[in-house]
Amino acid sequence: MLSDIEIAQKAKVKPIAEIAKKLGIPESAMVPYGHTKAKIALDYIDTLKSKPDGKLILVTAISPTPAGEGKTTTTVGLGDALNHIGKKAIVCLREPSLGPVFGMKGGAAGGGYAQVVPMEDINLHFTGDFGAIQLANNLLAAMIDNHINHGNELNFDVRRIAWKRVLDMNDRALRQITVALGGPANGFPREDGFDIVVASEVMAIFCLSTSLKDLKERLGNIVCGYTKDKEQKPILAKDLKTHGAMAALLKDALAPNLVQTLEHSPAFIHGGPFANIAHGCNSVLATQTALKLGDYVVTEAGFGADLGAEKFIDIKCRKAGLKPAAVVLVATIRALKYHGGIEVKELSKGENLEALAKGITNIERHVNNIRNNYGLPCVVAINHRTEDTDAEVKLLQDKLAHHGAKVILARHWAEGGKGAVDVAKEVVRLCEEPNDFKFVYDEQLPLWDKMKAIATKIYGASDITADSKIRAQIKKLQEGGYGHYPICVAKTQYSFSTDAALRGAPSGHVVNIREVRLAAGAEFIVLVCGDIMTMPGLPKVPSACSIDIDDTGKITGLF
Ligand code: ADP
Ligand code: MG
Repeated sequence: MLSDIEIAQKAKVKPIAEIAKKLGIPESAMVPYGHTKAKIALDYIDTLKSKPDGKLILVTAISPTPAGEGKTTTTVGLGDALNHIGKKAIVCLREPSLGPVFGMKGGAAGGGYAQVVPMEDINLHFTGDFGAIQLANNLLAAMIDNHINHGNELNFDVRRIAWKRVLDMNDRALRQITVALGGPANGFPREDGFDIVVASEVMAIFCLSTSLKDLKERLGNIVCGYTKDKEQKPILAKDLKTHGAMAALLKDALAPNLVQTLEHSPAFIHGGPFANIAHGCNSVLATQTALKLGDYVVTEAGFGADLGAEKFIDIKCRKAGLKPAAVVLVATIRALKYHGGIEVKELSKGENLEALAKGITNIERHVNNIRNNYGLPCVVAINHRTEDTDAEVKLLQDKLAHHGAKVILARHWAEGGKGAVDVAKEVVRLCEEPNDFKFVYDEQLPLWDKMKAIATKIYGASDITADSKIRAQIKKLQEGGYGHYPICVAKTQYSFSTDAALRGAPSGHVVNIREVRLAAGAEFIVLVCGDIMTMPGLPKVPSACSIDIDDTGKITGLF
């Protein structure tokens, strides 16, 4: 088997104008970035409003493991499979972040024969959206320090600045820093830090905005600090008159990017928020546009179905008025064995029915959540790996038989779209079923009760706790007019609990809220439950060490 990049480089990529034409997008609505990438103009997107929507299909997964599951690969493979059986399908994905590309994860453009191309471009800079988001974010940071330097009329408490600088790189040295050292000409020294771009509120806002107007309003509502008096009043980006300039920097970026899969299915790749500190799915604008242009739209949410899918539903769908038609839950046999207690090193040691049987508790909980708590029909796609045995596949199918979700083997990684035809047919069938789509909690519930609903219904927890300082902060937000916001839980993706080591389906645990963050522009409240990394570090041997370019400009080592 060739590597991902070798497969991608052998692909015959069609001119993007041809892909756009298939979707009925006129040439005048395209903003080409070279021959194989294009942005779709916002004024054209505006003209699509009266068209009916296609069916929205969410691809999510079991709780992630170091063994890998393959959500992006399956999203792409399913899109291709739907086109293969004659449906008009579009894929919607997040843009990869450079930090993980150069760190441990590598690229995020799918894998094997289910990839989006040009994969080098998509993984490295793409159309420059993240650069624009970084600049818009850092403009606000510069405006804050500048305002304080020039007399601090708004009365910022420099100990309570609520806005960090960002960079799209894994750089632990920047997590906690001191800025403005070097004397009076450089401003007032204070503690600061960098987050990675994908963890920024601007990224979340970008992905939830429905128009340029909405984007600007949300940017204006960002709380960037608090006053240095007893009231500690929030100071907004619009108080600094920065939101207009931030929106201006984001004007081009806000238009969705169109590319293609290896099999020439259209793919929108736009925006890329983290699934812990933010909501973890591509832009609302890309999803809405795809729904107007295709009959089936396949999209991925980050992490497992307890985090990514919950936020997709309770934040993105709620806010954008989207209604999913079906869910595909991705799992690998390997990952389920890991949930059954097998260590990564042991996973390649062949069949292990005992570990698999134990690990199935994880997938059962997720299937149950999707069907009963999100009210959506579901199919399990086993992302087939060459080492999987027939007995293992059969065991999984037997064990899940009574859960009302078919378990289908998918071979798109090795075979492309035709390898996932059975999943595609089941998805088409499920989309015709009436569904009982619902949110996990009502918007009007108090913030505390919303968190409790997520923890008890989705995570299997018995209760939630927080010390008095955190409870007071939640109360203040509730009374300060933010009580109707949805909750964005930041916790480990590896477990239903807040302890990454608890695999499978732990229950009866207590979820402790450690920290509260207001994202008034994105319009959600982040509740941090555990240690959350908003600026990752590089591993001992980063994948950057193997990425190279030859004299002809050919890139190697990207995976
Ligand atoms: P996720 O979106 O869940 O993080 P990806 O789809 O990005 O996962 O896949 C992660 C990696 O695993 C990719 O490099 C991909 O090539 C690889 N991969 C995916 N499916 C398979 C498979 N069936 N066999 C082998 N490798 C796979
Ligand atoms: Mg992915």
